[in-house]
Amino acid sequence: MEGCIFCKIAAGEIPGRKVYETQSVLAFEDIHPMAPVHVIIIPKRHVATLMDADAEGMADVQAMMAAAQEVARIKKVDQRGFRVVINCNEEGGQVVFHLHMHLLGGLKLRDGLA
Ligand code: 5GP
Ligand code: ZN
Repeated sequence: MEGCIFCKIAAGEIPGRKVYETQSVLAFEDIHPMAPVHVIIIPKRHVATLMDADAEGMADVQAMMAAAQEVARIKKVDQRGFRVVINCNEEGGQVVFHLHMHLLGGLKLRDGLA
């Protein structure tokens, strides 16, 4: 989608530090990491938010979850533990309107939500 930063990363038009990739999803390092491990997992196909995911979008969500397993292994937090988060819309804290999952780890995450 025109002007979408994550579409540009998926297309290789702007650089992203790739962690893992499949036909349908891409995982790359967050530019402003909030934890020692902070990876963004996106569908290559543009979907704005979780609420915009139709049946095809839900297949992407499943692919993102499968990618999260691989990323956790690659980053060696699969046994220690990690968190996956999808922010949706304004009160959910979504800033980039291309569906994405955060994978956070490498430290003991607290329970707080805000
Ligand atoms: P949101 O708040 O929308 O769930 O999270 C967006 C995330 O994308 C933020 O953690 C932010 O640091 C990250 N981000 C925004 N722009 C870029 C970028 O150009 N490159 C990378 N690698 N991450 C980005
Ligand atoms: Zn996009």
